[in-house]
Amino acid sequence: MTDLIIVCPGDEKLLAKLKRRRIVVPTKDEKAVHKIHREVSKSNDLHAIKLETEKSLSALSFKEEWVNIPLAIYAAEFGEYKEILPHLEQIRKSNARIFLSSQHEFNYTALRILSSLSINCGLYFNGGVLHWDRMNDLMHFAIYGRARHAPVEPFDWLASHYMPAAYTEYSAVYFDDPSRYIHINEKEQIALTGLDLSKGNFIGEGIEALESIEENRKYTDWFSRRYDTMLGMNECAFCPAFRICLARFSYLRNKKKTCKIFFTDLQDAADYYYSKKNSGGNRVWQV
Ligand code: SF4
Repeated sequence: MTDLIIVCPGDEKLLAKLKRRRIVVPTKDEKAVHKIHREVSKSNDLHAIKLETEKSLSALSFKEEWVNIPLAIYAAEFGEYKEILPHLEQIRKSNARIFLSSQHEFNYTALRILSSLSINCGLYFNGGVLHWDRMNDLMHFAIYGRARHAPVEPFDWLASHYMPAAYTEYSAVYFDDPSRYIHINEKEQIALTGLDLSKGNFIGEGIEALESIEENRKYTDWFSRRYDTMLGMNECAFCPAFRICLARFSYLRNKKKTCKIFFTDLQDAADYYYSKKNSGGNRVWQV
């Protein structure tokens, strides 16, 4: 039996069929959080609830009962600091990671604030304008910052999983890495990622198909083809930061002044983090 984590809706019937699995449930309804937790816990393990909201973070009504529920909150904007202030202590105590959209400029500053307040947080990419300079500042803060702060994703993941001679996949941060997560809907249609599921790009169907997913041809093909961009004559194939970006921003027109600069800096930062971790500390005499 596969030990992949299942990303699926909080549908009672579906959850009842999925026994003893680790589950992620995406929802847009903050009122459903407690109910989802209860439903999943009946016969499965809740890995996380992904709460996506178009509201600002400050407009969410943080409930006392959320404290012990693993939550990944995706909010479009940070909102008003004075509105979030009364909830800060509860957020800090809770098992939550706050993600803010990469579209809004102030979110980059807000993530620094959250991280400095010891709140796990991160940036999520949902198209639109990308603020590369701001992202670079945030990444420097996350990796080189000496003052105590909580991890900022996906930078912390990339730095801590980085291997100099391999590719580093960071989509697990967003429950979207098929080597760890698999997506399924109420109709039991299975897809590699959330985007594939919403676009109808299915690789199989039925709960039983999940049990043998490692033998599914479309699933195994994904592993053998995932770095195929490297084999083509395109800008990403010649990019020094391909190993950590994996061509995620290949749609951009001006890569030279945007993603390439950023991901090359991020790769340097990950290299720095890696050598620091493996240096065995400072030695006085190095002969
Ligand atoms: S940083 Fe830009 S150019 Fe480099 S691999 Fe990523 S998308 Fe391609």
